[in-house]
Amino acid sequence: MTYAYDDQNIFAKILRAEIPNDTVLETEHSLAFNDIQPQAPVHVLVIPKGPYVCYDHFAQTASDAEIADYTRAIGEVCKLKGLDQDGFRLISNAGDHGVQEVPHLHVHILAGRPLGRMLQ
Ligand code: C5P
Repeated sequence: MTYAYDDQNIFAKILRAEIPNDTVLETEHSLAFNDIQPQAPVHVLVIPKGPYVCYDHFAQTASDAEIADYTRAIGEVCKLKGLDQDGFRLISNAGDHGVQEVPHLHVHILAGRPLGRMLQ
């Protein structure tokens, strides 16, 4: 996969405050907000503030500080939403086969109902 970042993608516009978002958490390097079309009672997207297309781009090129901040931000959202009781699912789609709609890394945090088996 190549990593040409399109700074006109919708999450880049959210990060530049050109369009609004329903923020759950903001840290130095990360932003978490409620998904506009929630697929579960809890559906939060967590994105890094840096220009990373997808997970492998981020993991291969982001600084340790960004990676630590992002990992902790996901954990903090789980804590804020009380997800330690009933559990949750993390999903990060990448590229065509992953059916990634927005080309800026995002992890979906889904919770609040039984989510069903995903992998057989
Ligand atoms: O993983 P994927 O790229 O398919 O997911 C993109 C997600 O971004 C969708 O769940 C969609 O509802 C969400 N979205 C959003 N706010 C926007 C545009 C898309 O929460 N303004």
